[in-house]
Amino acid sequence: MQKRIVLLGSTGSIGTQTLEVVLNLRESHSVEIIGMSAHSNVELLRKQADEFGLPQERICLSSKEPDKLLELAALPNCIVVNAIVGSAGLESTLAALKAGNTVALANKESLVAGGERVMQIARDNNAKLIPVDSEHSAIWQCIGENRHKDIAKIILTASGGPFFGYSKEQLKTVTKEQTLNHPNWSMGAKISVDSATLMNKGLELIEAMYLFGLPEDKIDVVIHPQSIIHSAVEFVDGSVIAQMSVPDMRLPIQYALTYPERLPSPLTQNEHKKLSLTELGSLTFAKPDYKVFSCLALAREAARHGGDAPRRLNQANEEAVELFLKSKINFCEIAEYITESIKS
Ligand code: NDP
Ligand code: MG
Repeated sequence: MQKRIVLLGSTGSIGTQTLEVVLNLRESHSVEIIGMSAHSNVELLRKQADEFGLPQERICLSSKEPDKLLELAALPNCIVVNAIVGSAGLESTLAALKAGNTVALANKESLVAGGERVMQIARDNNAKLIPVDSEHSAIWQCIGENRHKDIAKIILTASGGPFFGYSKEQLKTVTKEQTLNHPNWSMGAKISVDSATLMNKGLELIEAMYLFGLPEDKIDVVIHPQSIIHSAVEFVDGSVIAQMSVPDMRLPIQYALTYPERLPSPLTQNEHKKLSLTELGSLTFAKPDYKVFSCLALAREAARHGGDAPRRLNQANEEAVELFLKSKINFCEIAEYITESIKS
């Protein structure tokens, strides 16, 4: 059966990669784009709509038409890929779930800002939430058919970002360019900054807590600079199941769209793009430094606290990242800004 996809945030990093995946799957006739949105990039949105044959009523520029965005999210019987950046994506996630749609969620801020509510609305409407974030896709694949009560803990891996191994002193002089230059992934600006501060891992910790119904202390963060193991799950018998692949977001995007099927992907078309363990030789792991990367500590605290704390943390982080991207504060001031905001 062909799946109908509504893609919100089509012009971003995840959005454009989703379109690549859909183009690649077109031959198998398994997926079709029926709606898309961007916020302000009207030229690219129009070009994409032409390419995918969408009429005007099925595309939305959310800066001008916020109601239409929610209407697209609620179109009947579809998978809504939420690739919007920031908590601006929360209302779309809720609208899609209320309509009983499956949400393929890249927008982790939906869960950080609206965690319990999002999960409750999904349950009430019998709607599925499929993770697109690579770590959460990995965890979801590792859990598979295992029983929830058999999970001992989640091992959430982190690349460590561009400043892995830096001291507090060294972080004082890093530039915006260095911050936006992630070693393993090419991503939108906001998540690139979050990856450098490790707030991204903090947001993912909270995302995992809600998605998989586990307390904060059952989610370990492990630095793994090669980004080959996307995360792992330890079970009560001591067995650990991990999911591996080369780092490429098109994989978790595709699996969210084709689930429960697995189909050939952009990776399988090119033999040397596939994972070769012998070429890699080794994989390494380290503990994160919560003192140097204090955003991760702030997120853990918010996760432990629960209630409104994750939403407030996320709000403060969005403000701080925006100030950093506008060159109003420096890298170290991001954590300071968040600490001050959540105090008041
Ligand atoms: P980008 O900044 O590249 O793209 C963001 C998209 O959202 C664009 O289409 C943009 O439209 C749209 N948008 C921006 N602001 C708003 C708004 N206020 N309301 C509605 N739409 C808006 O981000 P990414 O693709 O990198 O990230 C998207 C989400 O996916 C984030 O939550 C991120 O954390 C998550 N994610 C991203 C990964 C990645 O590899 N990039 C990996 C895992 C998760 P316009 O272009 O018109 O501004
Ligand atoms: Mg991730």
